[in-house]
Amino acid sequence: MVDSSRKRLVIGNWKMHGDAAFNSELLAGLRAGIAGVQQCDLAVCVPFPYLYQVRSLLEGTGVSWGAQDVSPHEKGAYTGEVAAAMLADFACSWVLVGHSERRSGHGETDSLVAEKAAAALAAGIAPVVCVGETLQEHEAGQALEVVSRQLAPVLALGAEALAKLVIAYEPVWAIGTGLTATPEQAQEVHAHIRQQLEAAGAGQVRILYGGSVKGSNAASLFVMPDIDGALVGGASLAATEFLSIAAA
Ligand code: PEP
Repeated sequence: MVDSSRKRLVIGNWKMHGDAAFNSELLAGLRAGIAGVQQCDLAVCVPFPYLYQVRSLLEGTGVSWGAQDVSPHEKGAYTGEVAAAMLADFACSWVLVGHSERRSGHGETDSLVAEKAAAALAAGIAPVVCVGETLQEHEAGQALEVVSRQLAPVLALGAEALAKLVIAYEPVWAIGTGLTATPEQAQEVHAHIRQQLEAAGAGQVRILYGGSVKGSNAASLFVMPDIDGALVGGASLAATEFLSIAAA
């Protein structure tokens, strides 16, 4: 049975997409449809320059917002980086940390990801810690091992910190490829993550699934007992599709 004490959460990751006009239309679509999906928490994680726009168009709607990365540093000579306190200035509720596109394209290590999570928490922002194995690791049967390794420094933050964050399991081979882990495959990894969270005293943390989630496959994933929602890339760029995932 799904644990109803964990409210479902669906977060859109816009990645590096959008412009002022496109965002305005997309957010108008979300505002128009949000009343139909009150059973789940809905959020969007957007490129830094649009945080002001997103805040002004979503404030008071019930849809929350956040960013896609954060500096592990509080402030200082870190050209190009954005501090957690700056995200808090824009009332961000969420920030993605350790997305596979940052781990692979920017050399982010497991410990750096945990530092970023800690920086976000210190500013009162909930990190969405992304973990997941590559295709090669998947084919070698190493998914559980990889996820455990990625999670270890995050679990070391302790139960109080863990209670405020969200984990997103995103098999790298399923991101943006149209391939989705089967609900059973995803559940196996989610259950493994749940066990680790329980051992760390934080069994109620929400665990999202990400990787080519769409309106047509969301329901079959969401019936799994340890899948508490979704992190959605491509399908979050169309309001009706994104809302149909939330409605599932
Ligand atoms: C993502 O970018 O986090 C993601 C899951 O992308 P997509 O839904 O496009 O696979």
